[in-house]
Amino acid sequence: GTPTPSSRAVLDGFAEVVSLVRDNLTALDQLVGDGDFGDNLLGGVRQAQTLTSTGTDGMTALAEAFLNDVGGTSGPLFGLFFQQLAAVSWPDDQAPDTRAVADAAAAGLAAIHRVGGAEIGDCTLVDALGPAVDALGSAAGNLADSPFTAAAEAAVKGALNTASLTPRRGRASYVGEHAIGVPDPGALGVALLFMVVSRVYE
Ligand code: ADP
Ligand code: MG
Ligand code: MG
Repeated sequence: GTPTPSSRAVLDGFAEVVSLVRDNLTALDQLVGDGDFGDNLLGGVRQAQTLTSTGTDGMTALAEAFLNDVGGTSGPLFGLFFQQLAAVSWPDDQAPDTRAVADAAAAGLAAIHRVGGAEIGDCTLVDALGPAVDALGSAAGNLADSPFTAAAEAAVKGALNTASLTPRRGRASYVGEHAIGVPDPGALGVALLFMVVSRVYE
């Protein structure tokens, strides 16, 4: 059935889907990087679930787990994003304020850009997150729209499109045009996150 709306449901839903696709994400990172992305992502969500068992809310737990416990490039970058989302109020049993989430997601993207320097088109998680943030921002002010669903669709589209790009940031940039045909694992991870959020709240 539909999970109860809460940041804990987002965390648990994300953990479930990440554990299902961990091997696929790892395989993609083996083709263009060092093959640890699936484990980095799964390690982060598992550590976050451990933190919630001591009372930390789901989004704060994700921020702390990824910032403090996950290595690789993706750990701190996902951590910065979750840190901004954790600043929003995520009430149990109802959706958060979508305008506040849109602003927080934009702040998270800005932090990732500041630290990692990636632009749209560089074949990184920014290629999923950027379109998701744009879609969330445009839909958030319009009651007729489903902002989280719009964000998820934009993120999936952006993530799949990375298969046509030559990486210019991160380890995948070392293989350059040999990465063409392989979707960026980090971008797929971001798309899965937005899909889970849309399933929990819409
Ligand atoms: P590492 O290369 O350190 O092993 P991970 O495997 O944990 O890193 O994460 C790889 C993902 O990180 C990539 O798929 C990409 O989406 C993302 N990434 C790498 N460099 C950057 C960057 N400069 N900006 C944004 N995202 C990046
Ligand atoms: Mg890696
Ligand atoms: Mg690594």
